[in-house]
Amino acid sequence: MRAVEKHFGDLHVLKTINLTVHRGEVVVVIGPSGSGKSTLCRTINRLETIDSGEILVDGTPLPEEGKALAKLRADVGMVFQSFNLFAHKSVLDNVTLGPIKVRGMKSKEAKDHAMDLLRRVGVADQAAKLPAQLSGGQQQRVAIARALAMQPKVMLFDEPTSALDPEMINEVLDVMTELARSGMTMVVVTHEMGFARRAADRVVFMDQGEIVEEKDPETFFTAPESDRAKDFLGKIL
Ligand code: ATP
Ligand code: MG
Repeated sequence: MRAVEKHFGDLHVLKTINLTVHRGEVVVVIGPSGSGKSTLCRTINRLETIDSGEILVDGTPLPEEGKALAKLRADVGMVFQSFNLFAHKSVLDNVTLGPIKVRGMKSKEAKDHAMDLLRRVGVADQAAKLPAQLSGGQQQRVAIARALAMQPKVMLFDEPTSALDPEMINEVLDVMTELARSGMTMVVVTHEMGFARRAADRVVFMDQGEIVEEKDPETFFTAPESDRAKDFLGKIL
């Protein structure tokens, strides 16, 4: 994204954001509450409009609307804090729906692919259940499988573990770590610093709508440059 600006009324939430995520790269976005991390994520697939600047996916500027936007959106998988599964559909249907409706996949093929993905995230045995019958960690892993079923070019995660009980956090982080190792391009907003150290190629630190620092995790966590990053790390580590 280039020179992206965004206001909510008088509030300047994104200030001249320049950020490039390379293919296969894992970028972890951290920063205090209200710094604009979710807004940044949401602008990447136009869930949020921008005032000025440009967002490019695979070198193509993100269209304003219409079919081209729907197509590009389908290339961007999103996983939120709240799992957002379809409550009245089985786990399997949650994962096959997008590929059948949006990608035009045959039902049998979609099912086979979905079962592979559910196996990959470790919940294949839950396929026939409704989301409410699963634990939070299991639901979030289904949400990841559902996003992956669309064969996205990039996956966005906005605090995927912050609504989970502690014992379920790791099972979701493990799936994300495996995904990162498999070469998926990922943008991850998280407070899990262990994950950031382990899986990130780059850490982006935001504060008050700005990218204040961008570093490899080792350098960022051991030698942050700005006072704002030092202050933030001092509070959370
Ligand atoms: P958190 O860590 O708490 O999730 P964040 O870094 O994700 O915070 P954002 O949700 O991006 O922060 O919010 C950035 C700022 O924009 C905040 O001050 C927030 O109150 C404001 N904001 C977010 N969404 C809206 C909206 N739809 N309308 C008005 N203001 C908004
Ligand atoms: Mg947020």
